[in-house]
Amino acid sequence: MNIHEHQSKEILRAFGVNVPRGKAAFSVDEAIAAAKELNAPVTVVKAQIHAGGRGKAGGVKIAKTIDEVKTYATELLGKVLVTHQTGPSGKEVRRLLIEEGSKIKKEFYLSFVVDRQTAKVVMMASTEGGVEIEKVAAETPEKIFKEYIDPAVGLMPFQASRMAYALNFPPAAVRKAAAMMGQLYNVLIGKDCSQVEINPLVLTEDDDVIALDAKLNFDDSALFRHPDVVEMRDKTEEDPKELTAAAADLNYVNLGGNVACMVNGAGLAMATVDILKHYGGNPANFLDVGGDSDPQKIATAFKIMLDGGQAKGIFVNIFGGINKCDQVAEGIVEAAKIISDDGKSIPVPVVVLLEGTNVERGREILKNTPIANVIMAPTMEGGAKEIVRLVNADN
Ligand code: GDP
Ligand code: MN
Repeated sequence: MNIHEHQSKEILRAFGVNVPRGKAAFSVDEAIAAAKELNAPVTVVKAQIHAGGRGKAGGVKIAKTIDEVKTYATELLGKVLVTHQTGPSGKEVRRLLIEEGSKIKKEFYLSFVVDRQTAKVVMMASTEGGVEIEKVAAETPEKIFKEYIDPAVGLMPFQASRMAYALNFPPAAVRKAAAMMGQLYNVLIGKDCSQVEINPLVLTEDDDVIALDAKLNFDDSALFRHPDVVEMRDKTEEDPKELTAAAADLNYVNLGGNVACMVNGAGLAMATVDILKHYGGNPANFLDVGGDSDPQKIATAFKIMLDGGQAKGIFVNIFGGINKCDQVAEGIVEAAKIISDDGKSIPVPVVVLLEGTNVERGREILKNTPIANVIMAPTMEGGAKEIVRLVNADN
């Protein structure tokens, strides 16, 4: 789960991290009131969306007067921001962070992330702050420093100092930078984050060290331990398809492509995504319907996959163990009833591979259905090739 920058900064503040004074605003009036309350020489008006790259996209404005705060707040609220992280459709700005401006001397990058290879948390930092870290990693990897943290002892003070020196913090700021690293590590552990990213971490003209931006990602499996974090969830930022799927108890992740797939079991679902990719397809989603094959649920899954015209074809790959192939087939027939006016069509080709429990009955149901564009696949390989061919032929 993700939260907004202003919420991340609230959490950081509670852990002692130095963040600028600021307040969230949901309207222009609230923005003006917040700016007046801050009473700072420079006020920053920041769009709050679950995506980075706002600065370059015009989502971070520096205001010198209350009038300017008003102008920027009016401009940003309701605006659709398109950044390199939002995708082409962008994200609507529904709230702002009104913050005291900082005098920046230098910008750094600092993050903590769980490294799967070493099974440790790694602290990564770079002198190239404020820019896309992926670019630094690709072009000048020698500018990224890393410290691997032993989970038994946590971040050792010498590691934090070594990092602060590697980044060339001036003597007056080394201890502040190292202390902040320790506090940020405590945030990651204390809140079960999968990532804590500060970009930029800034050195001010007064040799202060401030977390100017903050991005926290949380491990969903640990959210039950953090009701305060769950409270911060902003569903307007989440994919509506994923929310509908979660409500229907379907394990669905939008992958952005155009070949939808409906599978049972996470392993088979991943293998299906892989084989579609292998044959040149672009998977629209990961969808694991689980061990349940209630026709109504299958129909809901179809509805979600087809919603918004994203899917140009559907690959159904079911290995009936607990699931029953005949029920899955009934679900497909049911889906056609819900989706189409005539009750017997699905707007895109559907390639179906059924194996396992009640497979003969399942195939029989689909063979006798009036739905035109349902094609039975002989094998997983054959099915994947066929749906990719059909979708690409359509374009
Ligand atoms: P992002 O682009 O979405 O990652 O948003 P950031 O919060 O990182 O802000 C982008 C950039 O705006 C930063 O890298 C800074 O250069 C600039 N910025 C943000 N806050 C301030 C501030 O208080 N003072 C000044 N001068 N620049 C700021
Ligand atoms: Mn940033």
